[in-house]
Amino acid sequence: MAIVEEQVHPEVHNGATPPVGVGAEIPVENPATGEIVRTVPDLDGAAVAEMAARGRAAQTAWEAIGFAGRAKIMLRAQKWLIDNSERVIETIVSETGKTWEDAEFAEIAYAANAFGFWAKATERYLGDERIKSAQLLVKGKKLILRYRPLGLIGVIGPWNYPLTNSFGDSIPALMAGNSVILKPSEVTPLTSLLMAEALSECGLPEHVFQVATGRGGTGAALIDNVDMIMFTGSTRTGRMVAQEAAKRLIPCSLELGGKDPMIVLSDADLERAANLAVYYSMQNAGQTCISIERVYVEEPIYDQFVARVAEKTRALRVGKPSGPGSVDVGAITFPPQLDIISEHVSDAVAKGAKALTGGKAVENVPGRFYEPTVLVDVDHSMKIMTEETFGPTLPIMKVSDAEEAVRLANESPYGLGASVFTRDTERGEALAKRIHAGATNVNDALINYTALELPMGGAKASGLGHRHGAGGIRKYCSQQAIVITPRLALKREVHMFPYKAKTTRMLMRFFRLMYGRGKRD
Ligand code: NDP
Repeated sequence: MAIVEEQVHPEVHNGATPPVGVGAEIPVENPATGEIVRTVPDLDGAAVAEMAARGRAAQTAWEAIGFAGRAKIMLRAQKWLIDNSERVIETIVSETGKTWEDAEFAEIAYAANAFGFWAKATERYLGDERIKSAQLLVKGKKLILRYRPLGLIGVIGPWNYPLTNSFGDSIPALMAGNSVILKPSEVTPLTSLLMAEALSECGLPEHVFQVATGRGGTGAALIDNVDMIMFTGSTRTGRMVAQEAAKRLIPCSLELGGKDPMIVLSDADLERAANLAVYYSMQNAGQTCISIERVYVEEPIYDQFVARVAEKTRALRVGKPSGPGSVDVGAITFPPQLDIISEHVSDAVAKGAKALTGGKAVENVPGRFYEPTVLVDVDHSMKIMTEETFGPTLPIMKVSDAEEAVRLANESPYGLGASVFTRDTERGEALAKRIHAGATNVNDALINYTALELPMGGAKASGLGHRHGAGGIRKYCSQQAIVITPRLALKREVHMFPYKAKTTRMLMRFFRLMYGRGKRD
């Protein structure tokens, strides 16, 4: 394998001196070509602890800059990202093997929006709030709810969206006034390193944002050193992260796996439903936590829907991305993922499913690709309908009615996203509310992710907590209640010592008046 670029320099960690505790270098492979594009250090616990000490030392001044000062740097970063979009896309494509468009639409556009959104929204979400209380004992006092940064946040990210899902969660954490150490996936660390350079160029003080490259052990060391952990990845690793966070009694927020259902009712706009089914199952080669992973179609339109989906899928171009418009479906980023996809398809076929198109890995090419695959005659005895496949596959199941579709949609340990297609939007909304998922789109899919005002997170085994919306930044803070009693206050309050029977009775009369008059059945 050819080494086409030189090694990463320690300076890109946004730290002045090289980190200690550097283990063997990790090669970063381009999954579309098999070439090693760079190597990065595998940092151990001592290196992470040193970074944590630097991050903590830098945090106080960063917090003191205030919302406006931090927003200025984020807005500069937004412009930097657009000005340098080609370089960032090339970096993302080089380590993920995804198409140019998948990098542009789902990563650059997301991060550019996120820089601006959090720059503007943070003060609204985190500014001091004056609270009103009906409690007599605090009458006349000033009640303030304050959000203060937790200090040092550890962000651990997956390989499927190195900018959106690894780096993206760092933006609100930073805007809240925290320092951040990001541990990207060992498979895709280059985008995070580039963003560290970017933030540094945009004026972010040294050590406020650092990147700890390494494997799972580096992630584990991060949990040992931070005040809160934001994790995106598999449910399996997420459970371990939660256990480690519990040992230290630090909060964690978990964005985990999914098996998102799509329901197509017989009155749906078939052409739109078919287009969206193909796009949102095959986009990013199906390696999206909220991609459509299974479809339930009402019997009267099943054949028409399947025919359209199969035809559109057959037309997709798969292969090595070489610039805009070159291919529709890119590489499988993570080597073991190709085996999981193959195993799910083989298991389905062995149990009676039929592949209308695709059904195997692309052979005799240097990179890792899987043929876009449409499966029919599927049911819930098959892994492809119950476990996260994370590949360009679309199993379609016939159902007798919407009730059966909702029941099957909910028959899953996961609850990340879902979608319902019907021209009757009121009915769609009613069905959406019955699906146990963090987000359900009616006549669309995934699009909730772009509305940063809306919470995004998983139900059941798909996660704990949310990114986006007020909760998506308040989780990086502790809440502090401040109560201020005015200067001209009583010398002694009525409930205090010495206790006197007359006062006690008087207070009880008052409590009765306040709380004892409600109607009781
Ligand atoms: P993994 O759970 O395998 O890894 C996620 C991150 O955790 C990686 O950086 C990994 O490092 C690190 N890690 C591994 N072991 C530990 C450990 N013991 N302690 C701390 N960190 C550790 O997930 P993938 O990278 O395979 O990502 C794919 C998964 O992510 C899918 O299930 C997908 O659904 C989910 N996902 C969820 C999203 C959501 O918003 N809900 C969004 C995107 C993806 P290393 O890679 O070096 O092993």
